Amino acid sequence: MERFPHILLIYTGGTIGMVKDFKTGALKTFDFDKLIKHIPEINHLNCTIDSYSFDAPMDSSNMNPSAWKFIAEIIEERYDDFDGFVVLHGSDTMSYTASALSFMFENLRKPVIFTGSQLPIGDLRTDAKENLITSIEIASCVKNDKPVISEVCLYFEYKLYRANRTTKINAEQFEAFASPNYPPLAESGVHLKFNTPILYKPTNTSPLRIHKKLNNNIVLLKLFPGITQKVVETMLNIPGNKGVILETYGSGNAPTEPWFINALRKIIQQGIPVVNVSQCSGGSVIMGVYETSVDLQNIGIISGNDITTESALAKLMYLIGEGYNLTSIKKWFETPIRGEISEIPV
Ligand code: ASP
Repeated sequence: MERFPHILLIYTGGTIGMVKDFKTGALKTFDFDKLIKHIPEINHLNCTIDSYSFDAPMDSSNMNPSAWKFIAEIIEERYDDFDGFVVLHGSDTMSYTASALSFMFENLRKPVIFTGSQLPIGDLRTDAKENLITSIEIASCVKNDKPVISEVCLYFEYKLYRANRTTKINAEQFEAFASPNYPPLAESGVHLKFNTPILYKPTNTSPLRIHKKLNNNIVLLKLFPGITQKVVETMLNIPGNKGVILETYGSGNAPTEPWFINALRKIIQQGIPVVNVSQCSGGSVIMGVYETSVDLQNIGIISGNDITTESALAKLMYLIGEGYNLTSIKKWFETPIRGEISEIPV
């Protein structure tokens, strides 16, 4: 007898499962069972579905590392019982959560697909149905007895992306996400077309390992022309600071003023990693191309290459949480560990 893939649908919250409060006009979360009732088509898919809902579904603006850990544990506990996982999540911070989970899961060999929607499931013009149904189809895809996808992905508006390459770019259009430095893993049209050569293919057979010790004592410092010495020094020296993501200009450029470079040098000498990530969504940090990044390179700043800010924050929390020293953090940050950066600068 044919065995259908068994999919676990995890509902964390977000617009996809929201309804309008008629008194205030604001969107609020509602019962997950009602969500399923809105999409009877789900029962016609070639898979069997179980669901798990957060007791108190969250708007994704309230997401945090404890909630990420909770999602990881739901999957960990049921990993052997299911062929794939679909996580329904608010779109606002979906790229952060999905990036974090990509680092937390080592040796993942099953699909974990994040999706959500711009309009609630009950809305006539909703994008929720397509996003949900295709995500479940993707999570169910099997070729030669193996899942087609074996990584953490994000599906939205006809495109499947590697999750740790994505960023939310639009709060209005249905096409809410982009993956500026990595092509879509699949596109959904009349057919579901996978871009097979660029999918992650697991090479070892080690069991799934979940890394749960994320350290969120980190700072995101976005440069702007006119940023003051006081702001930079205060942020870098916040008590307990364990790492910095420095959002620089263009291909990783920053002011050359001595006070700026000295402030960075001082914290690096204390063993605190500083990662150079570009404010540009497309392209890569390449330190040393312009004079304005030579000093950064010389004082030991880590190159974020073509990583997104979302992914950089998650990767830094993960590497610090694992207890690596500065030298190892630099080595691993500059090495792709879950396909989050390109091998060669793009
Ligand atoms: N505010 C919502 C959230 O991120 C938006 C969405 O679901 O798209 O939870």
